[in-house]
Amino acid sequence: MTGDQDLEHKQTAVSARALCKRYGKQLALNELNISIPSGSSVALVGSNGAGKTTFLKCIAGLVHPTSGSISVLGRTPDLDEPHHTAQVSYLDQRHPMYGFLSVSDTLKFGAELNPNWNGPEAERGLDVFQLAPRKKVKDLSGGQHAQLALVLALNKSSQVLLLDEPMASLDPLARTLSKQLIDTSRSQTSLLIVSSHIISELEEMCDYLVLLSGGRVALAGWFEDLLDSWRSGALQLDGSRVNFDSSSGGNHGLDELVNEVLLFERSSLLSRANGSAQS
Ligand code: ATP
Repeated sequence: MTGDQDLEHKQTAVSARALCKRYGKQLALNELNISIPSGSSVALVGSNGAGKTTFLKCIAGLVHPTSGSISVLGRTPDLDEPHHTAQVSYLDQRHPMYGFLSVSDTLKFGAELNPNWNGPEAERGLDVFQLAPRKKVKDLSGGQHAQLALVLALNKSSQVLLLDEPMASLDPLARTLSKQLIDTSRSQTSLLIVSSHIISELEEMCDYLVLLSGGRVALAGWFEDLLDSWRSGALQLDGSRVNFDSSSGGNHGLDELVNEVLLFERSSLLSRANGSAQS
């Protein structure tokens, strides 16, 4: 690696160039380009089917791109590479775990698989969620299952923490506790990416937005910069100004900005689809 490349990878945690992933006829990622800065906490948002999970799986090395390239902390993700598997922790939104194991045996399994396992913090996670150590995973409720999966993902002590809808099935108290646990783990990572449809939750945990639409990056940047640009009327997508109505009152926060961009993207996708149907 040259000096310039070394500097670039210290500043950029994830870099994707013309990244494509096709599942049969379905194009899930469509020439996606992005450089995500090291040290950022990323809110990954987009409509259902926009490609968020596929993008996270490409970063984790669980999905191989059809074309294009991706690098994570300066290397191509590779599940056969112990360095990569130790560096990246991925919380799958479906929380796959072994139902026949008890809660405490699941943590022991986590400790055996992960060289940098943080045992004391994992035990604390069980206490925080009041998960019974002897209970079998198959006997946990849906929310408890999600809590145990989160404890596992957070305590690999990885540099890159990828959380796919970590709070989707949690009650309000468990959401607050999860945010606190994520915050504690976050201080030891180079990059946190959290996907969710609840923007207010992401706003509390993150500082950098990546909004996907149709498998591409529609908008990316630090929250403050994007909001300043939107409120001053300077924010543009595909050469068009993103609507900002200062007379409408309201908050004009991240939630409203994301909604405006999603509306804009939906009408662009529809007009592109109509255009190709007519030609
Ligand atoms: P959601 O918000 O609903 O979780 P998402 O943004 O995470 O959606 P993805 O799960 O990445 O979206 O899916 C992107 C597209 O790829 C969708 O059209 C989906 O149907 C398709 N897709 C994802 N996984 C597969 C698969 N294993 N086989 C076929 N198509 C897939």
